[in-house]
Amino acid sequence: MEDFKEFGLSEALVERLQHMGFEKPTPIQEQAIPLALEGRDILGTAQTGTGKTGAFGIPIAARIEENPESVALVMTPTRELATQVLKQLQTMLSRRTRDKVALLIGGDPMHKQLRQLRTVPRLIVGTPGRINDHLRRKSLKLSKADFLVLDETDRMLDMGFSEQIEDIINKMATPRQTLLFSATLPKNIVRIADTYLSNPERVEVGVTSAPAQNVKQEIVQVNDQEKYSTLISELEARSGTVIVFVKTKLGADRLAARLWEDGHKARAIHGDLPQKKRDRVIANYRSQKFRILVATDIAARGLDVPHIEHVINYDLPQNPEDYIHRIGRTARAGAEGHALCMIGPRDRGKWNAIDRLMNPDKVEPQKRRPGPGGKGKKRFGKGGPRGKGKTAALGKPARPAKGGFKKKRFSGKPKKQAA
Ligand code: AMP
Repeated sequence: MEDFKEFGLSEALVERLQHMGFEKPTPIQEQAIPLALEGRDILGTAQTGTGKTGAFGIPIAARIEENPESVALVMTPTRELATQVLKQLQTMLSRRTRDKVALLIGGDPMHKQLRQLRTVPRLIVGTPGRINDHLRRKSLKLSKADFLVLDETDRMLDMGFSEQIEDIINKMATPRQTLLFSATLPKNIVRIADTYLSNPERVEVGVTSAPAQNVKQEIVQVNDQEKYSTLISELEARSGTVIVFVKTKLGADRLAARLWEDGHKARAIHGDLPQKKRDRVIANYRSQKFRILVATDIAARGLDVPHIEHVINYDLPQNPEDYIHRIGRTARAGAEGHALCMIGPRDRGKWNAIDRLMNPDKVEPQKRRPGPGGKGKKRFGKGGPRGKGKTAALGKPARPAKGGFKKKRFSGKPKKQAA
């Protein structure tokens, strides 16, 4: 596919795409756009950073332009993702429709959203909770909304939005065109697809359990006492923008404050921050006013900051699929990225689950026979991973994962390339 013109899009839309730096469609766009323009429903799985937003955004822009009655609704799991999606989609819309949009997310002032809704928006982007609030208050009617996108559906269901999503869909126009995107396709997504999609086309880019190919992945063993100092050495050994994932909101605040005190420009982002503050933190991170973002999973979901070079998993994710989402924050749109997992003594179970997801065909390694004087399995020594140059002992993949896990040789020496 040479360029976007071949989809039969209007010249004006192709020009706007060119302005955004979109010259050629990405593989997911190449598959999804013609089907969506034909009016087909789509069940799509795509790796993060593949151009998924354009895959549904371009058909929305075309439809709104061509059909003056059409109204599109996009639902995302988080406020940040909704904000980002709307921003990208607005640049695709014609001047006439660009301002006829509404962003319905929690934490934002109601009066602003009510004002947007009074403009009779052609495009509504939001999170299920707030969209439902507006439906209940009757400030929003969806009876004309005939184009629906569910973005990061697995995450929305993980967050408990299933019932709200169904309530919303049931208030939309029929017939309706629906595009459902998800990183993974567990049973509950398949059920939603069976109920609300009509004869969908399956669109898939890459393997659902694999992250972007160009992420170099490494693991390092740590014990509790050494965890923070290992993080510092890793930060000092790397150059470029970093996102550090932690488990809890409090943990994010504490780690960012400690890093800041130690001279590392770090800020935290999590769901307890007021929306305005979250927006400010993301804007400052995007414009590189600070280098390290310490984030919880939900707050960083879908975050698209092209200059993120390193993802450090300071705490492992609760849910193995989140690992894929986390490392998808780097290596955006073909760039190269690095991901490091810090694995503590109690992380074995979680790590094995991630490893299984990343290497579904892996043959389980045979249990080691107890060696002389040993108990068999290699454990962390009293001092944790003792000695420089020791490699991690957990869950070694039988063969390198796509994109390859590499055991970290922890030299502590500054180096440009982590892998
Ligand atoms: P997404 O997966 O939608 O979050 O997109 C990842 C990144 O790729 C974003 O920064 C997009 O602006 C960029 N992108 C998406 N489609 C294209 C395209 N056709 N050409 C160039 N960049 C793109």
